[in-house]
Amino acid sequence: MKKLKNNSQYYQKDIDIVDSEARILTGFLCNNRCIFCIEGDRPKYNRKFKAIKKNLDEAKEKSVSLISFCGGELSIHKDIFKLFEYCHKLKFEEVVIATNARMFYYDWFTDKFVDRCVYHDMKTKMVFSYHAHKSEIHDPLCSINNGFSQAITGIKKLFRKLKDEKKDKSVYGSQNLVINRFNYKYLSEIVRFTHSFGLIKHIQFINILPYESAEKSFKKLVPKINQVLPYVKEAIKDSKKIGINLYIEQMPFCLFKEYKDNISELLDGRIFSEFDIENINRSSYKFPECKECKYYLNCPGVSNTYKQYFGTSHLKKHISPYSK
Ligand code: SF4
Repeated sequence: MKKLKNNSQYYQKDIDIVDSEARILTGFLCNNRCIFCIEGDRPKYNRKFKAIKKNLDEAKEKSVSLISFCGGELSIHKDIFKLFEYCHKLKFEEVVIATNARMFYYDWFTDKFVDRCVYHDMKTKMVFSYHAHKSEIHDPLCSINNGFSQAITGIKKLFRKLKDEKKDKSVYGSQNLVINRFNYKYLSEIVRFTHSFGLIKHIQFINILPYESAEKSFKKLVPKINQVLPYVKEAIKDSKKIGINLYIEQMPFCLFKEYKDNISELLDGRIFSEFDIENINRSSYKFPECKECKYYLNCPGVSNTYKQYFGTSHLKKHISPYSK
């Protein structure tokens, strides 16, 4: 196992290429202060355009077709427009960004984004991070007053503008939601709320990763998985009824045997890089039964922090290995 270059449990490289996909780190600056952020107290800076451009050139040389920008909030990177223009110049097929969507509340930003970042011949996947269906839950999680209303207004403005400019077919909208003590009882309502816009086609429920900020607020934030389980399953059922794709991430796979198609890490074609596996296994606990399981290496199990706080006996009856 490689030695990490920093002290964080969750280490991100500047560039990570697996087959046709490159994940490129853009920096750590953000305009939210989410209490479960895995970037936590890392030094806050954005990488320079020149350095990211070099990564994009490397990706092109290695025949990458999909660029996934990761790290902080790309919409506040001063070179966001130049980055998209450069991706288009290099003819990448798809660019993925994760955003809290608050910048899209501002017309000048949305107009410029649609003008300079969205192209008919390059797909853009927008992963919007919001964690509730109302501001009373969302805003304290992200430590920003009106953050929820800005984000939802921003998403609606963006799609309106895309439609006006006849660019809506180039953009695929998705939601990331981090499951925590404050929202887990409302997962079905959140799915219905997202579906009601008619703009977002895909929802990702991510089990909270107890690194950095989330580790510090573990007790306040993290629910027991067996408490969450029925709500996640109910939300999956509802998503199927109303016709929106819902996937779960960072949960032991066998807790969802009847919903295997909804496990994000097992999606067709999804690839695990050495980097993913390293991150998964460095700080996770696997049950004794897991050794018999065909997903022993790829399944996230539960984190060591989770085990330390809650133990694992409450999960024992749910653990059932997949045969090899
Ligand atoms: S048995 Fe263990 S490795 Fe297999 S899916 Fe369950 S938790 Fe994951």
